Amino acid sequence: MENNQLENGSVVDKIKSVQISRRSLFKFAGLAGGVAALGGIAASSFGDAKSIDTMMGWESEQGEVYFNREPFRVDKPGYEIKGPVNRVDQDVDSPTFRRLYYQEDALLSKKGEENLMPRLKEYYAKHPDKLESDRAWFTKLLPNLAEEEKKMNKDMWGIATAWNKAWTSMLAPLVGDPKEWDFKGVIKEPLKVKDPKETSKLIKKMAGLFGGTLVGITKVNPRWILGWGGGVDPRMLPILAAVGIDPITPRGVRGGPIDIPDWWQYAIVIAVPHEPNLIEATPLFYSPFEAYTRSGLAAARLTGFIKALGYPARYNGNPIIGWDELLPTPLAIDAGLGEMGRPGILVTPEFGPSVKLAVVLTNLPMEPDRPINMGLKDFCDKCGICAEKCPGGSIPSGQPELQDDGVVRWMSDREKCQNYYASVPIRHMCGVCYSVCPWRRFDNALHKYSRELAVRDRTGIAHQIMLWGQKSFYPSPSKDDYNAPTWATYKDVPWWMRTDMFFDGIPEGIFKK
Ligand code: SF4
Ligand code: SF4
Repeated sequence: MENNQLENGSVVDKIKSVQISRRSLFKFAGLAGGVAALGGIAASSFGDAKSIDTMMGWESEQGEVYFNREPFRVDKPGYEIKGPVNRVDQDVDSPTFRRLYYQEDALLSKKGEENLMPRLKEYYAKHPDKLESDRAWFTKLLPNLAEEEKKMNKDMWGIATAWNKAWTSMLAPLVGDPKEWDFKGVIKEPLKVKDPKETSKLIKKMAGLFGGTLVGITKVNPRWILGWGGGVDPRMLPILAAVGIDPITPRGVRGGPIDIPDWWQYAIVIAVPHEPNLIEATPLFYSPFEAYTRSGLAAARLTGFIKALGYPARYNGNPIIGWDELLPTPLAIDAGLGEMGRPGILVTPEFGPSVKLAVVLTNLPMEPDRPINMGLKDFCDKCGICAEKCPGGSIPSGQPELQDDGVVRWMSDREKCQNYYASVPIRHMCGVCYSVCPWRRFDNALHKYSRELAVRDRTGIAHQIMLWGQKSFYPSPSKDDYNAPTWATYKDVPWWMRTDMFFDGIPEGIFKK
């Protein structure tokens, strides 16, 4: 661990060394007061972490739902058992799918009742009334329903139908040409959009309900679509098949140049934060895949939803759903989710860099969001904690530079990063740059207040205070401690990740500070 006092001292010195003009000071004081007054943020935010704006992804908008069952525990369940054991025969006892649809032809005597499965024949012999009611399902109920539906305006249920469709969307893996895949499942007559602004609201609401935490929309800048899709070169497929390897990921275009289809007009970018306790236990206990999966699932569901409204859609941008077609980070910045930070990744005001992204491309007319300026360049200039703590030594400590993609920005050395995380025993992960960033903190009143102040303050004073707070109250291991023999974690491992607490024979050493 580092000498905290020394570290604090250097920050205090840094704070003292800032040239603060009287004008800046007055400006800052006014701003601080204004932010405090703004809705009573500090007072109210202890309990308000349940609004759509502060959701961490897995809470519901129902707010706190808790019932203490302990006082009501009894020795036996409340039902009474009298008869013999008669375990359910799903073919016979489940009317909806089995009894009716599997036997439809036989029930309607198209194939003759003698073709009913023997167990069902036996069942109908015992329950002749069921044979009649099951037949009536096809001969009366369904035709009547069709007549009723003709009288209704089906568009009324467009969203409800799409919502239903969305929840099965992960069943359609992203494999194949956009010309086919993006249109698979698109209904023939698209619902007509009344106002793109309202559609944006709907899409953001749905993305949240599907599991997204932050959602932004941007027009697609073709610069951020890959020129050549990753994945496996199609020429390699027969060779891989011959040796029994199925190139499941990366998916999408599976290697080859990408012609940008004209329906890739808008990008809906979804961000989901990492589980906060695990990002604190990085690098040894962290997994990026929980956030990748949750953002990927949200994108897959949203894709199914948009297709069921009648518009082509395609998900991409993370390894769970395919990440070989676009660059999610600049799209997220264009969509206003945050800014590019020192490690060359997205930093959001709510979760810092600790998010995983997924993107949906579509031509559903929407009103795009605008990018944000949260003062990050100035903050990263002063901060540099991630560069100082990066165990791979891959984050630059200097100024942004012109990169090969034509953008002036910071960029981490990906080879050095990979070399480090590949060296982490068993886990082969790292997330130190996510965990140490002052913008990634639990969402309590103090952090919320600091954030609200820091994004508004252009004097730099709030940035200095936030940095001082980070270094004083959240000291972290040195970059060397993240290596052998220490293998430190940023903070303690949460109880539910401690194998030694639940299973025998695990050495405790690794959990001790
Ligand atoms: S993941 Fe780890 S090694 Fe890679 S840039 Fe971040 S801190 Fe450095
Ligand atoms: S740790 Fe500091 S320098 Fe790094 S991204 Fe976060 S704010 Fe920027």
